[in-house]
Amino acid sequence: MAKIAFIGLGNMGGPMAANLLKAQHQVAAFDLSAKALEAAVAAGASRAADVAAAVKGAEVVITMLPAGKHVREVYEGAVLGAAAKGALLIDCSTIDVESARHVAAAAAKAGLDMVDAPVSGGVGGATAGTLTFMVGGPDAAFARAKPILEKMGRNIVHAGASGNGQAAKICNNMMLGITMIGTCEAFMMAKRLGLDAQKLFDIASTASGQSWALTSYCPVPGPVPTSPANRDYAAGFTAAMMLKDLMLAQDAARSVGASTPMGAEAAQLFSLFVGSGSGSVDFSGIIRMIDGR
Ligand code: NAD
Repeated sequence: MAKIAFIGLGNMGGPMAANLLKAQHQVAAFDLSAKALEAAVAAGASRAADVAAAVKGAEVVITMLPAGKHVREVYEGAVLGAAAKGALLIDCSTIDVESARHVAAAAAKAGLDMVDAPVSGGVGGATAGTLTFMVGGPDAAFARAKPILEKMGRNIVHAGASGNGQAAKICNNMMLGITMIGTCEAFMMAKRLGLDAQKLFDIASTASGQSWALTSYCPVPGPVPTSPANRDYAAGFTAAMMLKDLMLAQDAARSVGASTPMGAEAAQLFSLFVGSGSGSVDFSGIIRMIDGR
């Protein structure tokens, strides 16, 4: 049983902390939102007055915050100063690679082990404890983090040095964003050509057009009963979240001079979709825009 500080108990952090409590860990919780903090306390966490109070005496500090600026603020404002000697720091937020490497370097300077460990699997995976963690950081820090992450997830993958967890996450989601748009375009073209959606699915899902976007998350209703298309594109993974990850991918691409014209196009299209008021719709709902609706 470890003493864990958990900062950021929103849609993802709340159920992740609940799984740590179920595994008999002690959790000291802090969130700026009284509602989020209240829910964590109801699940069995102890309430901390602020970040520093949560972190004080903790063996492990987990953050699950919206973006890089929040992680920098929380780390530089309190975590790095208040963490006990030997504490392990785990940031599970999805943030830019540069911020991830910046805070990791600051943690190393303070003599603290740290990993970046962004997730995929969404709120469903966070609740079920089946998240995938993509982890960046030194071998020794990864070895310490793994048993804790295993209480919240099923696949814990070491992606290499600090920041590589974030790099893996945005590379994967850039592929997903591009593939989803391509899949939507194919279904809408098929419709206009008089090709039945189920027929296209049956053929492409066993041919070279096959992808996760098609076979697990098909953007038209029918072929994959569990896909959001069958429930009016209720998220799942929101278009706003996809846009966030595509923008992070573009930032990263620019910072290293990588050529990502399809990633840039996907970011543009999701930006249009979100700008039209569809940010809370599932990302596969972009098919409506591609259909001209
Ligand atoms: P959320 O907005 O529901 O939760 C973030 C929480 O952080 C909020 O409760 C907020 O009050 C708190 N917070 C912000 N600044 C703070 C501070 N300075 N101190 C303490 N608390 C603070 O977001 P979420 O959906 O839980 O996502 C968290 C992270 O996980 C994001 O980086 C997101 O990109 C990533 N992610 C989300 C999903 C998903 O499906 N929701 C999936 C994969 C990854």
